[in-house]
Amino acid sequence: MTESIISPVAIVTGASRGLGAAIARVLASKGYNLVLTYRSGASEAEMVKSQCEAAFSNIQVVLVAADISLEADCKRIIDVAKETFGRVDVLVNNAGMTRDGLAMRMSREQFTSVIDTNLTGAFSTSSLCLPIMVKQRKGRIINISSVSGVYGNAGQANYSASKAGLIGMTKSMAKEMAKRNITVNAVAPGFIETDMTDALGEETKKAAMERIPMARFGKPEDVANVVAFLASDESAYVTGQVIEVSGGLVI
Ligand code: NAP
Repeated sequence: MTESIISPVAIVTGASRGLGAAIARVLASKGYNLVLTYRSGASEAEMVKSQCEAAFSNIQVVLVAADISLEADCKRIIDVAKETFGRVDVLVNNAGMTRDGLAMRMSREQFTSVIDTNLTGAFSTSSLCLPIMVKQRKGRIINISSVSGVYGNAGQANYSASKAGLIGMTKSMAKEMAKRNITVNAVAPGFIETDMTDALGEETKKAAMERIPMARFGKPEDVANVVAFLASDESAYVTGQVIEVSGGLVI
């Protein structure tokens, strides 16, 4: 059997809503078999699964309930992918959370809980996938960072540190894996219309809009299309990069 007739397999963490759900739908439309993870949104995840299955005939979509901050759960996600499909071509580390507050009032637990989910979770899934990708001699890891990780953001010392950490991890893993046909890249969205940005106050949204030359928040699909490019063969010579998807946001 030649490689070209095997459907590629992608894992998308945090796929029950927002960016993760859009990434799942776009990858489904391109014929990927999918392992989609969620933490608490079981019914939302079921809906995303149905949308993915409707987007392309004969793809298989598997859901895994997992808390990405727990190493055992990360291992379970990769085990399900291996047992169901026997390979992992693309890993999208998308699951993420915020617990905003000023640093001088932020508890250590408030800081570490965000790091554990956004950064350590992505480290665990990546390090577990890499041996599979090395064996396949092919792989793509795409980390969903944030402009907050590139420029910093008041009230988000924990979140910005986690997203900046993802960028450092991306560049390091890219260097480690460059000779093995495995690329590792990050996408840094600006303000995208999801539950995460819905939670922002009107003042914050207005101030953000003034700094976006394209004068609109992004759609989840704006990010998903860039992820699909980084997942594809067309991006074979792109690694260790951070692509901002922000409508030209100036900070
Ligand atoms: P969202 O709407 O809040 O969705 C977050 C997703 O992550 C949900 O599927 C959630 O699952 C999952 N999740 C959260 N904590 C988890 C955990 N501990 N274990 C497993 N899954 C967990 O967020 P979003 O706006 O789509 O953001 C997606 C990613 O993009 C995040 O990494 C975020 O930091 C990043 N980002 C977003 C924006 C933006 O403007 N929206 C900008 C820059 C970066 P449940 O719902 O099942 O709990």
